[in-house]
Amino acid sequence: MSTFLVEIVTPERKVYAETANMVSVKGSEGELGILPNHVPFVTTLRIAPVVIKRDGKQDVIAVHGGFIEVRKDKVVILAELAETASDIDVERARQAKERAEQRLAQKRDDIDYRRAELALQRALNRINAKGL
Ligand code: ATP
Repeated sequence: MSTFLVEIVTPERKVYAETANMVSVKGSEGELGILPNHVPFVTTLRIAPVVIKRDGKQDVIAVHGGFIEVRKDKVVILAELAETASDIDVERARQAKERAEQRLAQKRDDIDYRRAELALQRALNRINAKGL
């Protein structure tokens, strides 16, 4: 079975680098499943889990937006923030989700709704990534 390298990089660290058979991402235009020898392209990513299939195993990374670059023999994901399933503290994410939901439910002028909405998306991304 043919393979390609998948790298997930943030400004802080290389989060992930493995030889894969397939990678699934949620691009700004929708779900994308990338197999070996895909045509090269670049697009932006939503805040969503990235799923990598390799040797019958599956890795899930919570990628909080960014870019995907598909090259001939390599896929590079550049994200502001990304966590592997083992990095994720699901209880912390549940608490962050609660806080964000409470903020979004309040009708107060001093609440930054955009910020709360993004915090909610990050928390859901972490919970989903851990559950896949
Ligand atoms: P919280 O309110 O719990 O801090 P947050 O979404 O505001 O969540 P971020 O600002 O996105 O947190 O992240 C700050 C740092 O904490 C990053 O390094 C991120 O990887 C890490 N982090 C945040 N939430 C979790 C989690 N549930 N499990 C593991 N690491 C986390």
